[in-house]
Amino acid sequence: MSAESNLPLRTCVGCRKRSAKKGLVRLVLIGSQLKVDKEAKQDGRGAYVHQTQECFEAAMNYSAFDRSFRKKVDVSDVQSFFRP
Ligand SMILES: [Zn+2]
Repeated sequence: MSAESNLPLRTCVGCRKRSAKKGLVRLVLIGSQLKVDKEAKQDGRGAYVHQTQECFEAAMNYSAFDRSFRKKVDVSDVQSFFRP
């Protein structure tokens, strides 16, 4: 067993691959607005995605955020974060 097995793993909602938590961006819902939780301090449900436009767009393409939070999510605040 390597030390890596102790790292918390999260699934990217874009590509569905499991990654170490620190390689992913945590997104939280404030009201109906999706926000980047940079410090991972916000309470409540979070969705994890790689910090790539590819994964973010994949997540949007199949409404992964809406499904994660079980409601219609406004992604306009976080879109710029994932643009190169
Ligand atoms: Zn991904």
